Amino acid sequence: MAYFNKILVANRGEIAIRIMRACREFGIDSIGIYSSADKNAFHVNYADEAFLVGEAPPTKSYLNIDRIIDIAKNADTDAIHPGYGFLSENAEFARRCEEEDITFIGPSSRTIEMMGSKVASRDLAKNAGVPILPGTPGAVTDVDEAISIAEHIGYPVIIKASAGGGGIGMQVVEHPDMIEEAVNGAMRIAASAFGDSAVFIEKYLTRPRHIEVQVLCDDHGNQTHLFERECSIQRRHQKLIEEAPCPIMDDVTREKITKAALKVAEKSNYVNAGTVEFLYSKGKFYFMEMNTRLQVEHTVTELITGIDIVGEQIIVASGKEMSYSQDEITLRGHAIECRVNAEDPLNNFAADPGKITLYRSPGGPGIRVDSGVYQGYTIPPNYDSMIAKLCAWDMSRDHAIGRMRRAISEYVIAGVKTTLPLHHAIMHNQHYINGDTHTHFLQEEDVQRTLKRYILEEEARMAHLATPLRDGKKVAAVVAGVTALIAKNQ
Ligand code: ADP
Repeated sequence: MAYFNKILVANRGEIAIRIMRACREFGIDSIGIYSSADKNAFHVNYADEAFLVGEAPPTKSYLNIDRIIDIAKNADTDAIHPGYGFLSENAEFARRCEEEDITFIGPSSRTIEMMGSKVASRDLAKNAGVPILPGTPGAVTDVDEAISIAEHIGYPVIIKASAGGGGIGMQVVEHPDMIEEAVNGAMRIAASAFGDSAVFIEKYLTRPRHIEVQVLCDDHGNQTHLFERECSIQRRHQKLIEEAPCPIMDDVTREKITKAALKVAEKSNYVNAGTVEFLYSKGKFYFMEMNTRLQVEHTVTELITGIDIVGEQIIVASGKEMSYSQDEITLRGHAIECRVNAEDPLNNFAADPGKITLYRSPGGPGIRVDSGVYQGYTIPPNYDSMIAKLCAWDMSRDHAIGRMRRAISEYVIAGVKTTLPLHHAIMHNQHYINGDTHTHFLQEEDVQRTLKRYILEEEARMAHLATPLRDGKKVAAVVAGVTALIAKNQ
């Protein structure tokens, strides 16, 4: 069954461990890389072999293509899995792997290049007959042109970097007075962050849902979808909670949206796992972009389909046929993922790196925790603040919410602030429970009001759980202190 002998995982944290787990199950040795800031990271410990890739940022380390290729060659690696972020959508990296005869576990460098341009991929989707939002036909190079296009589309509009990702460089413009400054600003940010100043403009939808379709394709002509995910709960255009399936999806729309995703995959000759992202509003969906890599939230799709997506990525990259036909891919139950970030949800999600003094992760039926941390570990300030993904599965959405609430109540992380209390709050929010969500959910006034109360309640409970000596007096003091805090904030 050995598809490869050794796979280098060009990533860190939970996703590096997720990929190494798949390697271990397949009897493949995993090669880890780490920056000097990550010497004590769990993925270094988990890897069969691990090599220092460089100093912590601002030096390149996980982005150092030459060094990673050198490590791969010296360690006799036959494939590289890039994970998400870092070099995962870097066409140059994929091309280098191709040139060095190391299998890149992902689509070809050509596909990455084409779909990495939001302008080009929008065009491809349009040509494939997939709906897109009204917007500029190509990149905007001139402010006057931008103004006239925005006027034509109608405000509000959004300006995006063609090469963008992670919400960087996106600007919403509500009024013509702001367009000139916004276009210039977006171009500047795009040039410095992505080395490409091309931006484009599209209609901005005020309360859309973010719905995406997982696709999986091989070199033997099999192109399948693994249903949809809903990722509307976001902060700063970044996902915080994902679930599968989408709670409001009906059979007809599902048929249409999955077909649309497959058209995009077909038109781009897609091979390996990918995600086609859409915005959904008033019964209509619009193509947004394609992510040519494994997504953070692939977990919820794995839970509802039972398919090991990382395992399939490895199989497909080895040139073999994928293990499932479309007919064999079925949807069962409901899964939710909460991203656990070391951030303070009551302080504008400010990152809160530091030492984890107490760590106890949940378990029991239907719970999955993908984490890169452990008790006593110090989260470095240099990287993304996501430290774990907490997932719950059950046969119905209501029961999955119940399981998620139970798992959050078991999860103890002390020493750093996390988004867990916020997740507790959302899992009790009536709009969320009704499946009534959109990308501005967290900014809604009534949501904000209830969130604050629940967050404080949850912090109280965490403090209680983290109290090492749980004698009556100590617990009573913590609870009294927190009750006072809640009263003050109401
Ligand atoms: P990135 O690649 O930088 O993450 P995306 O294009 O995937 O950016 O968009 C991220 C999020 O930004 C979406 O999930 C959505 O919340 C918001 N967004 C993007 N385009 C629009 C739009 N046209 N209208 C409303 N919201 C949008």
